[in-house]
Amino acid sequence: MQNPKVGFISLGCPKALVDSEQILTRVKSEGYLVAGNYQDADLVIVNTCGFIDAAVAESLESIGEALAENGKVIVTGCLGARRETILEQHPQVLAVTGPHDAEAVMQALHRHLPPPHRPFLDLIPPQGVKLTPGHYAYLKISEGCNHRCTFCIIPALRGDLVSRPLPEVMAEAERLAQAGVKELLVVSQDTSAYGVDMHYQNAVWRDQTRRTRFADLAQALGELGLWVRLHYVYPYPHVDQVIPLMAEGKILPYLDIPFQHASARILKLMKRPAAAEDVLNRIQAWRKQCPDLTLRSTFIVGFPGETEQEFEELLSFLREAQLDRVGCFAYSPVAGAAANALPDPAPEAVKQERLARFMHEQEAISAQRMQRRIGKVETVLVDETAAEGAVARGPGDAPDIDGLVFLDGATHLRPGDWARALIEETDEHDAWGRLV
Ligand code: SF4
Repeated sequence: MQNPKVGFISLGCPKALVDSEQILTRVKSEGYLVAGNYQDADLVIVNTCGFIDAAVAESLESIGEALAENGKVIVTGCLGARRETILEQHPQVLAVTGPHDAEAVMQALHRHLPPPHRPFLDLIPPQGVKLTPGHYAYLKISEGCNHRCTFCIIPALRGDLVSRPLPEVMAEAERLAQAGVKELLVVSQDTSAYGVDMHYQNAVWRDQTRRTRFADLAQALGELGLWVRLHYVYPYPHVDQVIPLMAEGKILPYLDIPFQHASARILKLMKRPAAAEDVLNRIQAWRKQCPDLTLRSTFIVGFPGETEQEFEELLSFLREAQLDRVGCFAYSPVAGAAANALPDPAPEAVKQERLARFMHEQEAISAQRMQRRIGKVETVLVDETAAEGAVARGPGDAPDIDGLVFLDGATHLRPGDWARALIEETDEHDAWGRLV
């Protein structure tokens, strides 16, 4: 008899993707097969996102589709923490579990689709099942968050910060490296807070005692000889300690720091971590130590109560900070977020107008920053090859969110290959180069 088949839908952010990978690894290790479509599956697991209303709607729609096409559905992920919302619309789902709870998903799966008699452990690659291409992987170092930003409901969904022990994170990173991964994308809700919950306790990796904290973890990851990219870092003072690692080429000179705003009053209303730090001076000092540093950030415009003057303050911060890569959202209220109770919500037209002005300002800055790459030779990592050439990324380009380096004619390269490219042309996102 054929082994039972599980279908899987993975929605949401890289942290949810890591949850999906962990669940799929368990599913496969128990001998279930993974089906590529609804019809072949005996049951479907939907890993949902509940971050903003649009994500909730998409998740509910996916659950509905899986129910219509297959009929047997288990729901997990961030929206799973809002059980009633799901059951109200889709009472026929078999089970609902919260985020980061592979154990509960497996228990529900066992109840509704018993596993085959023998586990097929030997079918599982040692690095687990990855949903990203073989040459890069997300490495989740902690779960949850100790902050209470007023626009965010993640702590309510995922709880307070729980860091993974350093040897466990490093063992996963080594397995990924052995499996051919070339680039590790370090993710969490608050990467620079790593280890706070464990009181930075001592841990041993490669016969050396290290502390369970951000700088030690970055140092250890830097010893693997891979590209290591840090995401969701807040500008706490100890972030300064990783800049020398970047300058020495141990980890990528790249920091993804969601600043969200520049006005002290708005940051306070947002209850942002490290809001009081003198960001502009810090950026200057970092760039002095590591001139190749790429800074990525995200911002929210039209937050409740944001005045024209505070928005202008944000624009002048942009001009001063000269960030390389920037994303911006018009504030959108998330059900259950504390910010919804703040006075003076900005009218939609004002939010959209500020968003357009913000993007216009930043596009010019990004284009200028990109031009600094022209004439330089960069090590690039190939993502894809097409008929016309290869598509790669440089040290300043994170997958999916940043730009690409197009290498016309380099059709002999394969995904995961390293190459050296002379950058010849850029726009505000992407670069064009030739092999050297
Ligand atoms: S730092 Fe703020 S925005 Fe990020 S997960 Fe925590 S509460 Fe949410």
